[in-house]
Amino acid sequence: MHNNNKDLTLSAPLSGPVLTLAKVPDPVFASGAMGDGIAIDPLNNTLHAPCAGVVVHVARTGHAVTLRADNGAELLLHLGLDTVELQGEGFSILVKEGTRVSNGQALLRFDLDQVAQGCKSLVSLLILTNSEDFQVLPITLKSVKVGEPLLHIVPKTIHNAQAEVDSSGAEVHGHIRISHRGGLHARPAALIRQTAHQFNSKSQLHFAGKSASCDSLIGLMGLGIGEQDEVQVSCKGVDAKAALQALLNALSSAVNDHSLAAAPTPIAQRTRTAEAGMLNGVCAAPGLVGGPLFQLAAIHLPEDTGNANAEEQLQALDRALERVRSEIRETLSHAKKHKYTEEEQIFAAHLALLEDPALLEAALQSIDQGSAATHAWSQSIEVQCEVLQNLGNPLLAERANDLRDLKQRVLRALLGQDWHYDVPAGAIVAAHELTPSDLLQLSQQGVAGLCMAEGGATSHVAILARGKGLPCLVALGSSLLNQPQGQSVVLNADGGRLELTPNSQRLEQVAQAQREHLQRRERQHAQAHNPAHTRDGLRIEVAANVASSAEAADALKGGADGVGLLRTEFLFVDRQTAPDEQEQRQAYQAVLDAMGDKSVIIRTIDVGGDKQLDYLPLPAEANPVLGLRGIRMAQVRPELLDQQLRALLQVSPLQRCRILLPMVSEVDELLHIRQRLDALCAELALTQRPELGVMIEVPAAALLAEQLAEHADFLSIGTNDLSQYTLAMDRDHAGLAARVDALHPALLRLIAHTCAGAAKHQRWVGVCGALASDPLATPVLIGLGISELSVSPPQVGEIKERVRQLDAADCRRFSATLLNLSSAAAVRHACHQQWPLS
Ligand code: PEP
Ligand code: MG
Repeated sequence: MHNNNKDLTLSAPLSGPVLTLAKVPDPVFASGAMGDGIAIDPLNNTLHAPCAGVVVHVARTGHAVTLRADNGAELLLHLGLDTVELQGEGFSILVKEGTRVSNGQALLRFDLDQVAQGCKSLVSLLILTNSEDFQVLPITLKSVKVGEPLLHIVPKTIHNAQAEVDSSGAEVHGHIRISHRGGLHARPAALIRQTAHQFNSKSQLHFAGKSASCDSLIGLMGLGIGEQDEVQVSCKGVDAKAALQALLNALSSAVNDHSLAAAPTPIAQRTRTAEAGMLNGVCAAPGLVGGPLFQLAAIHLPEDTGNANAEEQLQALDRALERVRSEIRETLSHAKKHKYTEEEQIFAAHLALLEDPALLEAALQSIDQGSAATHAWSQSIEVQCEVLQNLGNPLLAERANDLRDLKQRVLRALLGQDWHYDVPAGAIVAAHELTPSDLLQLSQQGVAGLCMAEGGATSHVAILARGKGLPCLVALGSSLLNQPQGQSVVLNADGGRLELTPNSQRLEQVAQAQREHLQRRERQHAQAHNPAHTRDGLRIEVAANVASSAEAADALKGGADGVGLLRTEFLFVDRQTAPDEQEQRQAYQAVLDAMGDKSVIIRTIDVGGDKQLDYLPLPAEANPVLGLRGIRMAQVRPELLDQQLRALLQVSPLQRCRILLPMVSEVDELLHIRQRLDALCAELALTQRPELGVMIEVPAAALLAEQLAEHADFLSIGTNDLSQYTLAMDRDHAGLAARVDALHPALLRLIAHTCAGAAKHQRWVGVCGALASDPLATPVLIGLGISELSVSPPQVGEIKERVRQLDAADCRRFSATLLNLSSAAAVRHACHQQWPLS
């Protein structure tokens, strides 16, 4: 694949530090509007030809030249910024238009001092003006000297890894606004690549003057596409239309990005204040632990001799890549089996990155030029990392860490090093930046906590650390790496601090807090299987929110009294066709079976709006969260809901299955589903009916609770959406995260109103939104009349213990006073005072 004679390696036309276009202080060049390319801050005074070619244009003012290379690439060489205004002063032209020049031939000379004084910046550009036809692969982003290799350019049509792809059909185009949170970072890009692979056509994304094949994750990320940016899509081939439609769907549907949704609010900001004996960082996963510091050593490569045998190095790289691929496949199948969704998504993206043509291409080119496989691979990754880091998008910058993960793994495979760290259990690991696969290794070895000089709270490592319950601090600064091996430290992740010199008293205090935490967990766990009654004897059901039968089995083990919410979307997303009735029935039955004799509340599908399904094209919405979502889908696709209801009616025993309807806003919606259930029961010759409940998650439903309760068997409050719709604040808005608080008195009033309405018809009310998992809210919810709390599975024991400490009558009295407070903060403060958390 690297032997195509139309590829071209451009040599440096100037000497000096190399910059990506994004770093050029000129919006037109930086945005790629002129084409893709690279910049150099020149230290010499002559511009040389980066390859052989014909001079097609020389600016009259002598500040720019355009060359056409033999492979058709058109290269604009532009000295300095805004230098046209110098009107030729300080420049001399050394070539004529229409002449042929050789590689390295001098083209322009300029007076460095004079030009520097007269213009905005000396930063000079090499731009591929027809970059829609070529892929640009930087070789280095360090300093170069004239004539050194700088950039590979690869014709897109001929040299693409998809050369075999059928591109005989017509080309079709479309455009779409990106709704993936944080833009097109690794996981959404992996989704786009996966979608494109289902078709024979060749597909590309175009943004800000740059193009990337949908084959290349790196290329896609390198476009620097942010949330709400509009991108062009082109597909060419026999199935171009279908490919375009699928890509537009994939681009417009937001992936469930746990990296953003689950990121804790950083307690400490990135201020690395030099408080004695203390390093400040950002909390990526909470917790408080003490232990010996263990510095993880980085891999050091020997000098590259530059005259390695290309054939041998290619084979070595192939073997190493295959080894890493098979390791990742193993991780993936383990994650799949255990339903570790986040782990699965992250490593699936790693696998795609490892096959990325842009990475391989650059490495192979360097090997061809005599580099050792280790250096070629390492350099190819570092160049792409810098590209990602310079896009000005923090999420994409953090994805550089995923590339470095692959760098290390492949280097280890090349160097024959074992991928195993000898870290003592209980250690606090320090590193420049840990990678996702480091984290999996370390967590298996029983380390107590993690701290990193760099990194961010939304990185993949942070997500995994939270999932594994490993306290983790990031962005502590490079002085972390100077701390001695084995030194006793305290990692206070909640407080965003690493205490470097804790005295024995502090260490003992932390150890004591850890012991108490563990004891509390053990005590809660031991009691989790008993029912939870308040001190005055009121039974509160503590159920679990789950998304699969595996999670249901874990919830039962953890003491859940039932499933309070099964989100059935898990069956419908990430696939190309809808699950049929049979598949759905089996999946629901599996959840019922996993729960022993407990009841299971199954919510009908809640997609639409911003959660699009590939096989269910719904019109694009101006305000997706106010659009056709939840039960409103019955309006446009009634057959889908009928199919789900039929599957639900066939589980057994039916009395353990309760059906819950999302996003109901008026009684007719409920009555309509009741009628459908009756008709379907008649079709299936069933005499029994499952209980039917309504989610209270829009203010209209809360205000109509009494009327709804007349026809529903139970109500379940979705505090996540109820907060969003009551406060008019997007529940996923990073800037509003702290204010979308369901303890807001307005929400408490709606909850109180719901309970009062339900009581008129002797119906019970539960809460399945996130507020149910907040122990500070437990007394308030009990006080307002809630009798079931459906919580995240690991918290069942904790919430049950909280219930047992409370007196329901006292909860009722005090909760009534909270309705009169003026803000969520005031409610939280009052709750802390009245019912302190242990
Ligand atoms: C809610 O809105 O509170 C809820 C439980 O539903 P979801 O989070 O799935 O929208
Ligand atoms: Mg909801």
